[in-house]
Amino acid sequence: MPDRRLVPIATRPHDAPAGGLGALWSTFKEAAAHPGVLRGTRALLRTNQVAGFDCPGCAWPDPAPGHRTAFEFCENGAKAVAAETTRRRVTPDLFAQWTLAELAGQSDHWLEAQGRLTTPMYRAEGAARYTPIAWDDAFALVARHLNDLASPDEAVFYTSGRTSNEAAFLYQLFARQLGTNNLPDCSNMCHESSGRGLGTTIGIGKGTVTLDDFAAADLILVIGQNPGTNHPRMLVTLEAAAKRGARIVAINPLREAGLLRFAWPQRPLALLGRGTAIATDYLQVRLNGDVALLTGLCKAILAREDAAPGTVLDHAFIAEHTDGFDAFAAPVRAADWATLERESGIPRAEMERVAELYLASRATIACWAMGLTQHHNAVDNIRMVVNLLMLKGNLGRPGAGACPVRGHSNVQGDRTMGIVERPTAAFLDRLGAHFAFTPPRHHGHDTVDAIHALHRGEARVFFALGGNFHSATPDTAYTAEALQRADLTVQVSTKLNRSHLVTGREALILPCLGRTERDVQAGGEQWITVEDSMGEVHASRGHLAPASPDLRSEVAIVAGVARATLGDRSGVDWAGLAADYHRIRAAIEAVIPGFDDYNRRALEPGGFRLPNGARDRVWHTETARARFTAIEVPEMKLESGQYLMMTVRSHDQYNTTIYGLDDRYRGIIGQRRVVMMHPDDIAAAGFVEGQLVDLHSHFDGEVRSAPAFAVVQQALPRGCVCTYFPEANPLVPARSVARESNTPASKSVVVTMTASVSPAG
Ligand code: SF4
Repeated sequence: MPDRRLVPIATRPHDAPAGGLGALWSTFKEAAAHPGVLRGTRALLRTNQVAGFDCPGCAWPDPAPGHRTAFEFCENGAKAVAAETTRRRVTPDLFAQWTLAELAGQSDHWLEAQGRLTTPMYRAEGAARYTPIAWDDAFALVARHLNDLASPDEAVFYTSGRTSNEAAFLYQLFARQLGTNNLPDCSNMCHESSGRGLGTTIGIGKGTVTLDDFAAADLILVIGQNPGTNHPRMLVTLEAAAKRGARIVAINPLREAGLLRFAWPQRPLALLGRGTAIATDYLQVRLNGDVALLTGLCKAILAREDAAPGTVLDHAFIAEHTDGFDAFAAPVRAADWATLERESGIPRAEMERVAELYLASRATIACWAMGLTQHHNAVDNIRMVVNLLMLKGNLGRPGAGACPVRGHSNVQGDRTMGIVERPTAAFLDRLGAHFAFTPPRHHGHDTVDAIHALHRGEARVFFALGGNFHSATPDTAYTAEALQRADLTVQVSTKLNRSHLVTGREALILPCLGRTERDVQAGGEQWITVEDSMGEVHASRGHLAPASPDLRSEVAIVAGVARATLGDRSGVDWAGLAADYHRIRAAIEAVIPGFDDYNRRALEPGGFRLPNGARDRVWHTETARARFTAIEVPEMKLESGQYLMMTVRSHDQYNTTIYGLDDRYRGIIGQRRVVMMHPDDIAAAGFVEGQLVDLHSHFDGEVRSAPAFAVVQQALPRGCVCTYFPEANPLVPARSVARESNTPASKSVVVTMTASVSPAG
């Protein structure tokens, strides 16, 4: 009998509906633990309200004004608000007490729990601790480093999706006035593949549906998405559709609780029952088996059409609005069912049955998230979804369309504001004309390229507006080396995180205001704007007193750095723009189409919707038509003992923010360093539940290892395993990326396992 290292595995099978009493209790616990029940309740009652602030969680849209409830938030929104409104503070005392090395020895959960940053902090070269620094000195330090660079392209300006439109617009303006397009953002790691796939097929890198369309759809596909944890209010929308009789087809390797049953905590009676069944059909596709499955659906549909030509497909739509149909259809017709079954893990009969559901549907919406976007062929995954939708003209009409669901509250808005490493010429023309300067035209670095540039020593200053770059990115050891090779790293943050501990030679932490807090500038109290997943822009206004008098808004920080760095080289009135955000919005209105009368319309209840050509069947593609694409079915060949691994969030996590150690919906309690496997795979490997194993990833001849993951049973397709990030990010090679989008392939990592010989991780 092998010498197994075992740890107690606390599992609690979750057979209750998602939401329900569990969500209520969790919300109460978070409020009580952080801001306190009274302050917490005040903040929650303002969350997602017309005159309140936008939840700093995901980007699921708010119902129209008049249709919102008093508690317009979900459990995970409540966690995000509680975390931001916590009474706990990270003051200079903490940094005096702890060295960076000691802090680095703490867990991400512990770091998060220390509270809100209060004071700008500086780490001198070689220093073991951070020490306080005055704002102006901090700005001067950044300016010195930036102006010492041989080229502005030696600087990288990273953005996390929490950044407001106003701060994002000013940030890109500063970077471009400095002379670089090095503007990576968190979208590079999540929906970049959606942007590329949609942009090349329907002419806009955004979804085409609105919440109203969900009320009209009779078939909703939810592909590679776990809304119960990552977009929980979406369950309210799905429940309404289910109650209306719509079919909901979940396509996911994991049987996610939120896609099975849901009890809306705001309906007391629902708390007593089993909740509402959400998915009417559940396809547990193999990891990266989506193209094979979608090809199977299209193949079955084309077979029906071929059996009765002219009676099945939306020929009017295809003829009038699309091109490329024949090139797309030929390989689909030729596809071999056995290959489609093997690669998808779904039987032919199931694919044909779901194809019939699609054909019977008058209006279909396809929703997706990271399960489609983080594979080597991710862009093709998106194009295949578009192919399927176009067969029945499910684009640009009520109840139908494409719905990539964004996981960060303003990640779409930041991109709209120009946070992108390859801006369009038209955008740069308008920006240059409005601010009377010549923006750089050469493309910059996205996130993965920025890591490589830092690692090669080509990038020497790394500036992050929010986020936790070190933990959000792949190839942890490599990324850490890259950051540590910088001359200066700057983190604009609300809370302590690991990126504050993996720094360049010099480092700054610049603490900023949160969404929930009042933002008072020289021009008075300010409000910001955000854009949700469905292209709706609305105002957000904080109302709580800031966590510290020494905090500054993101806008004020960007303006401060820009003034200190550019000085008289810039004709932009940075101080004036920071004093009154109306002026920033006026500039946005002048530079970005669709923001007419911005300052007035953003304050209207619910805000306004941005133009979306595809929604109006106007295709801004190369051919001015919606484009079918011929897609090859990827074949995943695993050798004996190899598994395909995906990294995911737990239910107590938001991106890299760890609120707790439970994953209630998957029944995993009190631990995160786990590898979820099918019970038969566990037995076949000679492992037992609770056994510690070392994981080894294999890519292009390289092997990366991460020790001591506890084996946990989970209903997954054979050969597919699942871990949490950031714990498993050391296994994801920075060079393993999606074609075209350069998104880390965190859902397609080939791994092997050995019985762990090292002590528990
Ligand atoms: S669904 Fe998303 S935006 Fe809405 S409350 Fe929850 S986390 Fe916040």
